[in-house]
Amino acid sequence: MQEAHGAGVFDIATARVVDLTHPITPEMPLFPGDEPYASETLSTVEEDAYCSNRFSMDEHSGTHVDAPAHFAAGAATVEQIAPEQLVGAAAVVDVTAKVAASPDHRVTVDDLQGWEARHGALGARHIVLIRTGWGARWPDPAKYRNEDAHGIMHFPGVSVEASRYLRERGVRCIGIDTLSTDPGSSDTFEQHRAFLGAGGYHVENLANLEQLPEAGAIVVVAPLPLARGSGAPARVLALVPGSGAPAT
Ligand SMILES: [Zn+2]
Repeated sequence: MQEAHGAGVFDIATARVVDLTHPITPEMPLFPGDEPYASETLSTVEEDAYCSNRFSMDEHSGTHVDAPAHFAAGAATVEQIAPEQLVGAAAVVDVTAKVAASPDHRVTVDDLQGWEARHGALGARHIVLIRTGWGARWPDPAKYRNEDAHGIMHFPGVSVEASRYLRERGVRCIGIDTLSTDPGSSDTFEQHRAFLGAGGYHVENLANLEQLPEAGAIVVVAPLPLARGSGAPARVLALVPGSGAPAT
C-alpha cells in the first residue's frame, strides 16, 4: 500500500461515490446581483420526437469553479486549468465547531496545521476542502446568505494567511461549502485576490462534505470548459475507498 497524500492504491470495486454538487435550480441561493438559472423548452418528445432545452446561468452560481482569471487579468481562464489540477487527494479541514461559535470564522493557518498534524504535510496533489457545516443551510437563500439588518452577509471563509500558506505548499484548489471563499462580510475580496492571483482556483457551494473522511478520498472537479470563462458550473465527485456498495 502506497501512501502518497493519503491516497493509496485505489479499489474502484468497493469505493463509495459522493456527489459534492448541489442540483441547479431557479430558486437556489445566489451571490447578490447574480441572475437565477433559467431553462426554456426547445422541443418535446410528444411534439418533436426528441426533448431539448436551452439554459442560461451566471458562471459563478451553483456549485462552481473560480478560475484564476476571475480576479487576475490575463491569468488562466477556466478551460485552461490543467486536468492534473482538477483531480486530487481530498484534505477535508473541519471547522464546524468554530463556525458554530462564530459564523464569521476565517480558516487560519492553525486550522490547516491541525489537519497536517493528523494526516501529514499538504502538497501539490491535495485538494483542500473546507467543511464549515454551512451546506446544511442550502437551498434556503436567506439562511445561506445570512444577512444582518444592514444587508451584510455573515458566513465563514478562508483567511489570506491560510490561502498563502496553501499556495506556498503547492496546493492549487480550495473548495468550500459556502457562497464564497472570502467570508460573507468581505467587500474587498482579499482572499480571492491572494489565492487566484497566485495561480490557484476555487470551488464554491460544495455539497455533502459531511460524508467525507478528513483524508483518504479522491476528488474530481469537472467544470464546464467554457472558452475564456472566468469560472463555470462544475460537477464535483469524491471517491471514498472501501466504504461503498458495488456499482449496479
Ligand atoms: Zn469565488
